[in-house]
Amino acid sequence: MSTIQRAYKTELDLNNEQITACKQHAGAARWAFNWGLQRKQDAYRTTGKSPSAIDLHRELNALKQTQVPWMYAVSKCAPQDALRNLDRAFAQFFRRATLKQQGKLRGKLGSPKCKSKKRGLGGFRLTGALVVLPDAIQLPRLGRLRLKERGYLPTHAKIRSATVTEQARHWYVSVLVEQEHMVPENTGPVVGVDLGVKQLATLSDGHVEENPRHLKRRLQKLKRLQRAVARKVKGSQNRKKAARRLGTQYRHVANQRANTLHQFTSRLAKTKSVVVIEDLNVAGMLKNHRLAQAIGDVGFGAFRRQLTYKAAWSGCRVVVASRWEPSSKTCSGCGWVDSDLGLADRMFRCEQCGLLLDRDLNAAINLEHLAGSSPDRINACGGESAGTPHKTRVKRSPMKQEPNTVYPSG
Ligand SMILES: [Zn+2]
Repeated sequence: MSTIQRAYKTELDLNNEQITACKQHAGAARWAFNWGLQRKQDAYRTTGKSPSAIDLHRELNALKQTQVPWMYAVSKCAPQDALRNLDRAFAQFFRRATLKQQGKLRGKLGSPKCKSKKRGLGGFRLTGALVVLPDAIQLPRLGRLRLKERGYLPTHAKIRSATVTEQARHWYVSVLVEQEHMVPENTGPVVGVDLGVKQLATLSDGHVEENPRHLKRRLQKLKRLQRAVARKVKGSQNRKKAARRLGTQYRHVANQRANTLHQFTSRLAKTKSVVVIEDLNVAGMLKNHRLAQAIGDVGFGAFRRQLTYKAAWSGCRVVVASRWEPSSKTCSGCGWVDSDLGLADRMFRCEQCGLLLDRDLNAAINLEHLAGSSPDRINACGGESAGTPHKTRVKRSPMKQEPNTVYPSG
């Protein structure tokens, strides 16, 4: 028995008054974030030091009496948490800057930026007196908010925080709960998983998980909607309407994608005792434009993150094979390496033992072989890799569980 943290996300059913209150809270969080960012930058420029979230919160409290009295209408948690987020954003930025200096990071280095209403209302997090009822959640200042789905949020768990967010005019709440959890005994088989471009994944037992490609199927429509937005006069009502339609379409795609991935990773974690995956350099692969769309659609980074935390709950072990392991170029029968194998070659032909196998299946079998290999390769929490900035998040925030109940798409 161990205590785990787990997040449950579900849609809210708000009336107009509540929407206004939520917008106000999100606005306060955004304002605090932007104000804090400005304060930090100014202070750093003049003194070389920047104030912490606690300093800023104290300062903000004083400011409420004079400059921003409207902030009294929102829970003090919203701006407070936004300032903590700002601290985390800076910590992450400095961490990446160090990696970049050491040459371990190839990606871009973005410093924290101002949040704009134009890029979505965002959200806010509340702590304190939070009560979950079967069909509603009670939050400080906001009162009782109805839920669209009855009985999904756990009513008898210790609630750490609740985060309210907006996406394409739908409001969601995500509650972080602490639960007692018994890791079940997992007696499933060992499997190697080769993530692909054509298929979502090929398993070493021969199973092929088809790629959903929701984005591709909806790309035409998405493109049309994007053009429609671009044609409209800036600031006009028509442009706003077109942007809303585009947002809704994106939301559909994102929901379906999340759903497919969650179902796949859940199934793997629950039915296999060991899953061997390849440490793909996602950032590097995304630079290849021919592959970019399919990979972006499926979300390899999300795949690994989900699999890792779900495996921990299900008594499954995740083995991350080194990025330099030539799993697709090695014969799974005899170990011969085909150094000429290109991306276009769909079949693997062994010149030594004559093995002829689907390229992805061959790679998956090679990965399966690595399950029992030297312990330095085995790392249940994901290997050391600068290309995976999510690594540290695994411990901190467990993600939502069942996506099909998470976003009832409308
Ligand atoms: Zn061979």
